[in-house]
Amino acid sequence: MINAMQANFDLKEHSHTRFNVLTGDWILVSPHRTKRPWQGKVEELPEDNRPAYDPSCYLCPGNKRADGSINPNYADSFVFTNDFASLLPDAPDGDINIDGLIKAKSARGTCRVISFSPDHSVTLPLLSVKEIKKVIDLWCEEIQNISADPSIRYIQIFENKGEIMGCSNPHPHGQIWAQNSVPLEIFKETIQQGKYFKEKGNSLLSDYVQLELKQKERLVLENEHFVALVPFWAVWPYETMIISKRQVQSLPQLTNEERLSFGDMLKKLTAKYDNLFHISFPYSAGIHQAPVNDGEHPGWHLHMHFYPPLLRSATVKKFMVGYEMLANPQRDITAESAAEKLRSLSGIHYKEAK
Ligand SMILES: [Zn+2]
Ligand SMILES: [Zn+2]
Repeated sequence: MINAMQANFDLKEHSHTRFNVLTGDWILVSPHRTKRPWQGKVEELPEDNRPAYDPSCYLCPGNKRADGSINPNYADSFVFTNDFASLLPDAPDGDINIDGLIKAKSARGTCRVISFSPDHSVTLPLLSVKEIKKVIDLWCEEIQNISADPSIRYIQIFENKGEIMGCSNPHPHGQIWAQNSVPLEIFKETIQQGKYFKEKGNSLLSDYVQLELKQKERLVLENEHFVALVPFWAVWPYETMIISKRQVQSLPQLTNEERLSFGDMLKKLTAKYDNLFHISFPYSAGIHQAPVNDGEHPGWHLHMHFYPPLLRSATVKKFMVGYEMLANPQRDITAESAAEKLRSLSGIHYKEAK
């Protein structure tokens, strides 16, 4: 049921705040600001022509890593423990609390690195669906292995792509960080999804996907088992989410067919991103799933977030400064117009379209 209070209030015209139903946060949307004149630069970047093998890359097959070990001559994907891990398995137990004012707890876990391909020159959208499926299978295997340690509470799979995101190596790869506590974003989403499930008996994201499939305004892609959309509450200009149509709590619960379908969705969505400004599109992306070794989470619904920083060209990015640091995030172009733009782009990568 739509609860529209004022006839004059238009989400496309008037500034408003939007509620992020997944986290409980709010964001300020100012659609009228896109009408102000833009004086920034618009430029094309030179074509990225990386070799398939880079002798100085610590992820390429056969190369030496920081700890002195040699990468195997792997054929598909390859996973290892980060030589500079932020979380270590042997951190001592500790819990400090001084008058409730100074609090700290020891953090223990592991950080793994996954190379998506032996080929230094490719990226996710340039892999075949079958190759992406092998990465998904490896993610599942890692989740199962890591969660066998009963002290682990959460496993975060993510990819940080592009120099603009501080990614130091262009070799296609992602990371897995696992830890003995539930991190902030997951903590918030667990509360919101749990509350919704208790009230409605359905997963929040199942109902949300149904609503988006009806409204169609923010849809980007749909296949048999997944949808990709710009969430109503998106903060980053071209932020998207991939959500499974069937509610599962974690990645390993996906069937073989669903994993292929997820691979297809990943390939098409990241191809659209590259097609937007004709560059290898930078982003931070990650899979959100239920905490592990933490009891039942019947409301949790597997999804993936893409947070890309670019705003209107290959080099003009959105900054999270000023009001956003001090109050809450803000955006100018609406989620609906970003979705319309992404929808209009081909799901076939411009390099594969020739
Ligand atoms: Zn490499
Ligand atoms: Zn999430």
